Amino acid sequence: MHKHIAIIGAGISGLTTIKQCLDNDLIPICFEQNSSVGGVWQSEEPHSPVYKSVLTNTSKEMSTFSDFPIPADWPTYLNHSQIEKYIDMYAENFNLLPHIKFNTTVLKVSILPDKRWKVKYIIQCEREEKEEIFDFVIVCSGLIRKPRWPEYKGMNLFKGEQMHSHKYKRAVDFKNKRVLVVGCGSSALDIAVELTHAASQVYLSVRKGKLPWITPRFINDKVLDHTSRFSAHMIPPSIRGRRLENNIMKSFPYPSHLKPTDPLIASYPIVNFEIFQCLTAGKVIVKPNIKELKSENKQIEFVDGTVLEDIDVVIYSTGYNIDNSFLEEHIFTGGCEVEQEFGKDFYRLNWLYKLLFPPKYPNIAFIGFTVGAGAIWPVSEMQARYVISHIKGFIKPLPSQSEMEKSIRNSYESIRKKYCRSARNALRINYVLYMETLSKEIGCYPYFYEIIKKFGFRFWKLIMFGTFTPIHYRLLGRNSWDGAREAITLYNQDNFKPITNEKSINS
Ligand SMILES: Cc1cc2nc3c(=O)[nH]c(=O)nc-3n(C[C@H](O)[C@H](O)[C@H](O)COP(=O)(O)OP(=O)(O)OC[C@H]3O[C@@H](n4cnc5c(N)ncnc54)[C@H](O)[C@@H]3O)c2cc1C
Repeated sequence: MHKHIAIIGAGISGLTTIKQCLDNDLIPICFEQNSSVGGVWQSEEPHSPVYKSVLTNTSKEMSTFSDFPIPADWPTYLNHSQIEKYIDMYAENFNLLPHIKFNTTVLKVSILPDKRWKVKYIIQCEREEKEEIFDFVIVCSGLIRKPRWPEYKGMNLFKGEQMHSHKYKRAVDFKNKRVLVVGCGSSALDIAVELTHAASQVYLSVRKGKLPWITPRFINDKVLDHTSRFSAHMIPPSIRGRRLENNIMKSFPYPSHLKPTDPLIASYPIVNFEIFQCLTAGKVIVKPNIKELKSENKQIEFVDGTVLEDIDVVIYSTGYNIDNSFLEEHIFTGGCEVEQEFGKDFYRLNWLYKLLFPPKYPNIAFIGFTVGAGAIWPVSEMQARYVISHIKGFIKPLPSQSEMEKSIRNSYESIRKKYCRSARNALRINYVLYMETLSKEIGCYPYFYEIIKKFGFRFWKLIMFGTFTPIHYRLLGRNSWDGAREAITLYNQDNFKPITNEKSINS
């Protein structure tokens, strides 16, 4: 029987989910509150957290969709307009737009007695709320939704400007101002560096009083996130982490009092290069956590007793919370019991089998709710392939509710032991190993024997020891792609080729 499927969100995750539906003769309806596709990357949308100077921190070889390679002659790391262009090319090439209801906000998704879902939505130009019934709902609403604000004494009294980093777009808006950036994630460091070109002084407040692990995009002549399937399987993450730590320490002038104390593997490295130059030149000055914002002289006091005066703007780059407010919490969280067992950080997170299915409701799935030291896009694509294979009955049915609960508990236990306690880390995956696991169940894993039989030994060596790329999962099985072999070969040619054909990326 034809299944009626709703997809919520037309960012990267929603787009690839539509594509995987169409590949398998399912016609979904995708609800998107914005007027265009791309989610966070759509800088014209009012809530986009992306600033114009952003550069991906995952390489094109690792970030590409598996059957629509980012052109090989584009740079290793994409800038903002290249990302937008790639997303538009993907949507256009696979004719995804007709399946999207734009300017349509999903207000509520509720379960019916017959276990189907009622989706209540509103089209922005019409006042009237509408409802539709679906057999399956796929939530692709994104991790970066509700700006997270810290709480400091005196925030309400401070006379300078205070803003969240999602409102930050360009440095020139801060010309000759004294700016304090709060946070030490990718956006905080990017913004601090960029501000040095316009602001009169930039300060960076880091909660723990230490810098995070910071790495450039290329290290020891290698693209940072490039790995081979062999290394990903054979070299334990702890050893890879220690290697990277050593390389970072050898290459960068970490002021000794700001060196990170946690091992790299317990958190994740921030990709940035220029920050060290700014630190050594005093253009960015690191401060510890804020103690209090004061009403007089735009003063800010820090936990070490130091005080800054005349701070014109405070930019809180303190992250985002998931906002699935259109769903009742019990659908995707573990409830009070889990809160008691794992603590608050974990409670707010999705209690999902394989980070996809809530054990109580196997006809709703969540795509794109992962973080890791790897690109999100191909992970969302693989998740979508897995979910569609589940809907179509191509893979074995999900285990019982109690088995799924047990599996989630085990994976959270192991994350808790390995990594720092943070909301982000609870959604953490090992990029390659997670992809490998799902691909084996779907039937698109590049098994040794089958690759040699179909493509020969030399090509197998490329799959094993060459640069890993998600295109590997299009060589075999359902929805394989004839162009995969050639694309993999191209991606394994000189990765450091300078861009010579300006037209190919700007046209
Ligand atoms: C500055 C920055 C740099 C980044 N760099 C990288 C990188 O280098 N590599 C990488 O892999 N990732 C990076 N990311 C992460 C990025 O979030 C992912 O790459 C990816 O774009 C997430 O896509 P998504 O579709 O899951 O979510 P989103 O892009 O957030 O899309 C969700 C969509 O759902 C829609 N939506 C939400 N709620 C509703 C509702 N109720 N009704 C209707 N529509 C709704 C939203 O409007 C949005 O369009 C970066 C993020 C930022 C902010």
